[in-house]
Amino acid sequence: MPPEVNAITDLTEAERERILAKTARFAPPPAVLADGRRELVGLSREELAEALVEAGEAAFRAKQIWHWIYNRGATDFSVMSTIAKPTQAKLAERFVIGRPEAAVVQTSTDKTRKFLFRFRDGQEAETVYIPEEDRGAVCISSQVGCTLSCRFCHTGTQALVRNLGAAEIVGQFMAARDSYGEWPSPRGEAPRLLSNIVLMGMGEPLYNYENVAKAMKIVMDGEGIGISRRRITLSTSGVVPMMDRAGAELGVNLAVSLHAVRDDLRDEIVPLNRKYPIKELMAACRRYPPASNARRITFEYVMLKDINDSPADARELVRLISGLPAKVNLIPFNPWPGSRYETSTPDAITRFSNIVMDAGFSSPVRAPRGQDILAACGQLRTETRRERKGAEAAPPV
Ligand code: SAH
Ligand code: SF4
Repeated sequence: MPPEVNAITDLTEAERERILAKTARFAPPPAVLADGRRELVGLSREELAEALVEAGEAAFRAKQIWHWIYNRGATDFSVMSTIAKPTQAKLAERFVIGRPEAAVVQTSTDKTRKFLFRFRDGQEAETVYIPEEDRGAVCISSQVGCTLSCRFCHTGTQALVRNLGAAEIVGQFMAARDSYGEWPSPRGEAPRLLSNIVLMGMGEPLYNYENVAKAMKIVMDGEGIGISRRRITLSTSGVVPMMDRAGAELGVNLAVSLHAVRDDLRDEIVPLNRKYPIKELMAACRRYPPASNARRITFEYVMLKDINDSPADARELVRLISGLPAKVNLIPFNPWPGSRYETSTPDAITRFSNIVMDAGFSSPVRAPRGQDILAACGQLRTETRRERKGAEAAPPV
């Protein structure tokens, strides 16, 4: 291994600790309601068994209840026909199976559906369902707001309010599924509608790693929702030290928000680059464990007119990703009220895409979805107030 890669790896443990400590103060609210009942969604299998044993139930109930919650989509103990009525009643006194409240649901003319979910403490985040012909992806938020302020992103104009908890992350998917009635989870075959998950909504998933990881382990569990890691894509703006961990522990597909191929420009439009520059980011991609020809890393590249869309940029992009199992996703910039950029011209996008394709990389242009309801990439933002004083002043971690 070249020495500079070693140096990065050596830093990793300390960096991880620092990131986790800094984001801890943005923790989600506890899973116990005002009436003392405990939320079961978002608990790991082990935690669910412990909670049931504490309540005087046999540990084997965890398997039954897990099935009802995550395979059947039950939100009420009274439908759990494999559990005796008196036990159902006892469980209902101690526990709840919640969903975030769908405060606003809008469906675009192209059938994209955007949900504004309200959580127990009143904080809100957006989730988008993007249907395709024989499948569909749920684009999930990981934080309310974002500490990173990428210049072209609407979410980035909203300071981080807080991290979402595992229950809230899984809950977005489950509530979206409720909306399409796609329960029980189909066995052995991919669901028809909500088949994929993309962690590309509001927030930086690798700055809320613990909750995102817990939520993804729940949705991947084969006795519940059962979505394969191959159908989950985590998008990061490049939190290098956490990429190794996500790859090793979750094994999901990786998307990297590259957007610029020179450090001077990337420093400006993706400010996290000042901390983890392109060279380190590309090294982390090269060692991302799950990547292979069958599971390529997606490089997301927002097309900004006259900023990052020249043929020279395209050629440098090809140089950066050469030798990697990679594909490039060109995203025409989606404007939002007050945004300062323009979308590249169709000619510039085609020219750029052709250079990347001629070098052997797939380079589709992502068609904007749900633009009429501001549901396209980078348009998500909520008007929620900041929960804690000082959150706005929090430095990017
Ligand atoms: N924070 C993560 C995931 C959420 S953003 C990340 O940055 O990767 C999902 C994708 O939308 C990212 O690639 C992001 O850069 C892109 N994006 C943000 N604002 C956009 C806009 N206005 N138009 C097009 N894409 C945008
Ligand atoms: Fe945050 Fe991603 Fe938006 Fe950047 S692009 S501000 S990391 S949500």
